Amino acid sequence: LSMADKLALDKFEVDEGESHIHLHNELCKSCKEKNCLLVCPAGLYSEQNGEIIVEWAGCLECGTCRAVCPQKAIEWIYPRGGFGIIYRQG
Ligand code: SF4
Repeated sequence: LSMADKLALDKFEVDEGESHIHLHNELCKSCKEKNCLLVCPAGLYSEQNGEIIVEWAGCLECGTCRAVCPQKAIEWIYPRGGFGIIYRQG
């Protein structure tokens, strides 16, 4: 399976009312590295008109983006109980 095919097997219970990822865009604008664009295994970060955007609904909850942000511009918490990715075995 390709990475895209594997990601398509994941199931999400999306918390429509509340993103669990918040970006401090004023810090993102001054960031030279923009590591978030490179490290997210689901490719959820993009840059549009000079702003960093995250499509949080597809988050795999690995926490990598928060760990590698040199600006500490990413506020990241786990989704509320019952929401987020549902990993399946087998
Ligand atoms: Fe992407 Fe992982 Fe950050 Fe979710 S926690 S947005 S999957 S890098």
